[in-house]
Amino acid sequence: MSQEKGDPSTFAIEFSFQPDPDHGKGATEEESLSWGGMRIWVRGKNLCEHFEGSTVEDSVQWYLLSLMEWIVENWNPLFHEGKYPGNLYEAKDEGAWHVCNGMISLYAESYNPRQLEREETAWYEWRQRHALYSCRNGGLLPDLYIRRDRDQIELSWGEPFGHSVPGLYRFRVAPATICLNPEHVANPLYEAVSEAIQYLFSKCPDSERLKTLHHDVQQIPLSSTDQQLAWMAGLQNGELRQSQWQSCKAYILSLSQKARNLVTPESHDTGLFLKGSCHAALMFGTVSPTITQEDVLLLSEKMVEFSQHFFDGEDLIEKRGHQLEIDPDVPLWIQGYELAEQFFSYSDLREALSESVYVDIEKIIKDLNIRIDTIRLSDDGIRAVALAGKGMISSILLNLTNESNNWNSGKRFTLAHELSHLLIDRSYGQKVAIASGPWAPHSIEKRANAFAAMLLMPREKLDKVMGDALLSDVKLSDARKISGIFGVGIRSVIDHLHNCGYLDAYHRQRLHLAADRQAEMDDSL
Ligand SMILES: [Zn+2]
Repeated sequence: MSQEKGDPSTFAIEFSFQPDPDHGKGATEEESLSWGGMRIWVRGKNLCEHFEGSTVEDSVQWYLLSLMEWIVENWNPLFHEGKYPGNLYEAKDEGAWHVCNGMISLYAESYNPRQLEREETAWYEWRQRHALYSCRNGGLLPDLYIRRDRDQIELSWGEPFGHSVPGLYRFRVAPATICLNPEHVANPLYEAVSEAIQYLFSKCPDSERLKTLHHDVQQIPLSSTDQQLAWMAGLQNGELRQSQWQSCKAYILSLSQKARNLVTPESHDTGLFLKGSCHAALMFGTVSPTITQEDVLLLSEKMVEFSQHFFDGEDLIEKRGHQLEIDPDVPLWIQGYELAEQFFSYSDLREALSESVYVDIEKIIKDLNIRIDTIRLSDDGIRAVALAGKGMISSILLNLTNESNNWNSGKRFTLAHELSHLLIDRSYGQKVAIASGPWAPHSIEKRANAFAAMLLMPREKLDKVMGDALLSDVKLSDARKISGIFGVGIRSVIDHLHNCGYLDAYHRQRLHLAADRQAEMDDSL
């Protein structure tokens, strides 16, 4: 039996069963039957292609039964869980393979041993759910990670690292991270796995192990939306996940039955995966995995309140957002800069802003019919929350326990940053629900920060202010002056000056150090 499923130019997988070269020695009957080869293609590359010595093999071969069991058991986390676990390590802007391999350096740092142990366990369990390698059972498999990344499925891979692969084997495809639409991965994978299991079961119908697997694979399309949303929200690792989501949902519905759409995704065309999401799952997908119950309730209350503000006027934010074009091939900070510049040029803001250097961000936000509200979360790492959806008033909730919102420049930056989320980061169904903080996806946070910097310090205005300043001429006092003129914090000013070509990397670092020293002196006064 051998058939390729899917389209190799996006995602395809093939299992082919062959006679066990060991004739069943050292393997159970069903394992022996499952001996075969596997090939996986992502965007035209075969991830299973590898060198064995000097020959190139295009598939990996092993007892495939435990791989099938792993896929079936972890189906829902593979296609719905995106958030990384733990609290100590801030996951970077990279695919899961890079992040998980970067964990090695975390362990070298000196954390509280108990905390570290909990962290390690959480990451171990996370890898067990997402890394293909975790089910290799002594075989050779590509080190592929699969996880949800907002509306898409992220596939990331690299050379197996820290696992004992004999030096003889080497995979050919270079490490990479690629995001695909869920249907392009889930449909062929399900088809391939269910057909393979059906085949094995027909060959060995008395096997209890195959009977269970055959039953479980058929249950996958019957998964409840709530199970899938619970993985997306990722409120708590482990067994509590399901009950926490249920209690959060029940709480939201107890506040208002009308708020049902906050906990229900807009479409559910197939049971295999959720295409879209709902506000509550999107929101909780961006908060700390150890969020307190109190914060869950506060955020739920605010979401319900927000969903009651129906709005039938023109959705200016959506209109403006549609006009913006993202160039995915440039670095994130350039994307943010370009989007802010487009935002100015497309809108009628240009004239209104040309008179003064100081950008009145509150006015821009009010003119776009965005509601500004406040919240007091016990997690002071969350700076603000952006919420938007069809027929609802777009809102920004400033978290008052976050220090930066207590002064003008910090608050202005937060507002500009959240505006970026409302304009750009709409997911399927045109929803936005993001808590800006260490647990929001780093890529969109980075882009929103760049957007905010360029929005508050437009290049033309900066050029005017800077006049003919030479590279090495900018001093801390100048940066302070610019910070005062634009109403932006000193750190953002220094980085923006560097990005706009007014400071080289060396002088940027020197200015940052000088700013830190000054801040320390101010503190000690
Ligand atoms: Zn943010």
